[in-house]
Amino acid sequence: MSADKYEYDLFTIGAGSGGVRACRVAAAHGAKVAVAEEHRIGGTCVIRGCVPKKMLVYGAHFAEDLEDCQSFGWNIEGKSFDWVKLRDNVMADVDRINGVYRKTLESHDVTIFDERAEIVGPHEIKLASGKTVTAKYILIATGARPHIPGCSGGELGITSNEAFHLDELPKRILIAGGGYIANEFAGIFNEFGTKVTIINRTDTLLRSYDQSLTDRLLQISVKKGIDFRFNAEFENIKQLDNGCLRVCMSNHDPIEVEAVMYATGRVPNTEGLGLETAGIELGEKGEIKVDRFSKTNVDHIYAVGDVTARVQLTPVAIREGQAFADTVFGDKPTAVDHSCIPSAVFSHPPIAAVGMTEGEAKNALGQVKVYQSDFRAMKNVVAGREERSLIKMICDGANDKIVGIHMIGPEAPEIMQAAAVAVKAGMTKADFDATTAIHPTVAEELVLLK
Ligand code: NDP
Repeated sequence: MSADKYEYDLFTIGAGSGGVRACRVAAAHGAKVAVAEEHRIGGTCVIRGCVPKKMLVYGAHFAEDLEDCQSFGWNIEGKSFDWVKLRDNVMADVDRINGVYRKTLESHDVTIFDERAEIVGPHEIKLASGKTVTAKYILIATGARPHIPGCSGGELGITSNEAFHLDELPKRILIAGGGYIANEFAGIFNEFGTKVTIINRTDTLLRSYDQSLTDRLLQISVKKGIDFRFNAEFENIKQLDNGCLRVCMSNHDPIEVEAVMYATGRVPNTEGLGLETAGIELGEKGEIKVDRFSKTNVDHIYAVGDVTARVQLTPVAIREGQAFADTVFGDKPTAVDHSCIPSAVFSHPPIAAVGMTEGEAKNALGQVKVYQSDFRAMKNVVAGREERSLIKMICDGANDKIVGIHMIGPEAPEIMQAAAVAVKAGMTKADFDATTAIHPTVAEELVLLK
């Protein structure tokens, strides 16, 4: 395809997971593509999200492994932990992946503008340098940023963005929120020896997950030493003379900590992009409204990923970017299927799930069958770790079709990825029962459920 009267066939704003995939695939389909990124190529997932977070989760988990290994005969006298070393190694790998992403774009002849871009006309984009370019299609893939609750002294807190770069670990941290980031970072900091207190505005953790799992996570987290304060909202944060922060909140006593971290959801990045100029409609949460093909209300402008707030997960953004490029440049109209998306929380221990929770299934189907296994993983038994795993399978009462699988325990995300294939394919409990177990594994519980 040639750009005709425009300089580019596609101009993408934002080089995160969705934007990069869209650029690469559009270019492979023959489009002339440019992308603008004001921060670093890779976006939230690579630079300050999933990737470095998972590395910290690995790093943190050694704390338990080093404790448990003694029951397996290991002597680990003299062990120590160096946060700065871990932080720098993680960031070095982030640099490596950032470089890989850049190379991928370059090898597909995508022009990269390392600067901010704004839509200034129907097909016109202005870069921070003042340069103006034109494109036949525009894709907005600007992601989202942490929401920061407003209160006096709110600016004294950090978000997960800054948590990756701390000079030293705080002795005590207050984490606000009860979702993914709060529970993941609570686990990370706690394993590193920081005293963690989670405060949440309600008494519900990880709202979209099955309650049996979140109850189990709460119970295990408390046992590991994490404090929870529910129905707590910030009143104010003050810096004390000793450098500590004093946090006042509703329904609870004030608390003194070295750091406050907000993990209270993410807000779509839509400001300063010229969306009003372009006449693009936003939804109630400030997200860009799109149709099944990620098209906005303006025919040649599309949006993918967190900025559309459909499902704020990297693999979903990637699929949306791919589907956009196939639709517009590959002559293959593709709508992303947002149903039955598996997901995981990399808490300690992790949670993973696919499909409906028990509550959702009861509401949707009326009659459901629930199969469950509540067990202690072999490794935990030898280690003397009183930590039980839970696997729950929800089936449609009418036909035994599996409509949801939920798990908390070691390797839950790894196990769930495979189980999700079966759920997506519409398999039944009988299909699982007909499959021979791999023994001894944690995953075998899935085919032995009663
Ligand atoms: P979540 O949506 O998971 O959780 C937000 C939490 O903050 C909830 O407990 C919510 O309470 C609370 N909250 C929301 N708004 C406010 C407010 N105004 N004041 C006080 N509390 C508030 O968001 P996260 O920030 O943890 O993560 C953002 C998104 O990033 C996730 O939704 C997920 O899509 C993605 N993510 C995915 C990960 C993964 O796949 N493992 C890891 C990290 C992030 P309530 O429940 O009452 O609304």
